[in-house]
Amino acid sequence: MTTRILPVTEASLADAKQLIGAGEVVAFHTETVYGLGADAMNDEAVQKIFSLKGRPADNPLIAHVHKDYDITQLVSPPAWTKRLRDRFLPGPLTMVYPSKGRESKFVSSGLPTLSVRVPSSPAAQAFLRAVDRPIAAPSANRSKHVSPVTAQHVYDDFAGDIPLILDGGASAGGIESTVLDCTGDIPLILRAGLVTREMIAAEVGACENYVLKEGEKPKSPGMAYRHYAPRCKTAFFGEGDTDAALRLYREEARAGVPVILCDHAAAQTFAGCRVLDLGATPAEMASNLYAHLRTAEGCATLLIGILPHARGGVMDGVLNRMLRAFGQQ
Ligand code: AMP
Ligand code: MG
Repeated sequence: MTTRILPVTEASLADAKQLIGAGEVVAFHTETVYGLGADAMNDEAVQKIFSLKGRPADNPLIAHVHKDYDITQLVSPPAWTKRLRDRFLPGPLTMVYPSKGRESKFVSSGLPTLSVRVPSSPAAQAFLRAVDRPIAAPSANRSKHVSPVTAQHVYDDFAGDIPLILDGGASAGGIESTVLDCTGDIPLILRAGLVTREMIAAEVGACENYVLKEGEKPKSPGMAYRHYAPRCKTAFFGEGDTDAALRLYREEARAGVPVILCDHAAAQTFAGCRVLDLGATPAEMASNLYAHLRTAEGCATLLIGILPHARGGVMDGVLNRMLRAFGQQ
């Protein structure tokens, strides 16, 4: 199969609509990362996503809809969730609700819930409006690999296996959406992202980080898997371990190509080394993380990660992804 990368135009949207209607998989831009989408009502199409990615069947997918879609066709949102939708949607917040069971049973891996996301990216909105049906989509990377933030990243993982990538440019958000359980009385963060716990609590009074209790069935099974791994050797150091990191860098440099990934402040202490600078602010670090991990695996024999200094807010999401990418969590 030839994989086409096309800009979002009337013609490419018509192609996307035809492909989705035929049960095919189409990759599309969002403001967080690229998604690998299929008709959420079509069992075979949804199963294609799992087999293309090599994704474990117990890791549920997110249903993506355009901003005028009536989500009560799919789910029963508790009344308190309206404030969050009004404040944060469209945007990088995925909300998990009790499902009405109309979508393919493969979307939520047998859970009684469905996660719904309304992306803000104009390219995603145009795609979702063109197909005018819920699109089940995880990130458009092979399972466990680094999430894609450009059309080329998607192509690198799926060339020859999917018919179309709708190119909306780079995904500026850079890390996946916040996943928020909205099935109880208080919102629970299942996955940290750009809409932070602090922002949600400010809106509805409370918001907790989900912690799996002993003996309990996890609310979000997929969270347990290793994710975001670059395809090169890695090592990881704490903020204060600059000397140890430099020693390893010099040792590797004798026969290989070491690269250091760190925040902007730490980058100053590694003058003369090959450094991928994540940036100075949490938003910059989120935006650069996956792009830098993909760059590193293309050129480094060893990627040395240094724990960034900042904490809280968007850093919850950045640190979660970074620690997982380096096998630290
Ligand atoms: P991905 O799109 O690859 O970032 O994966 C979607 C994430 O959302 C996974 O980590 C899932 O565990 C989570 N997720 C999707 N649907 C649900 C759901 N119904 N309940 C809990 N978590 C979900
Ligand atoms: Mg993913």
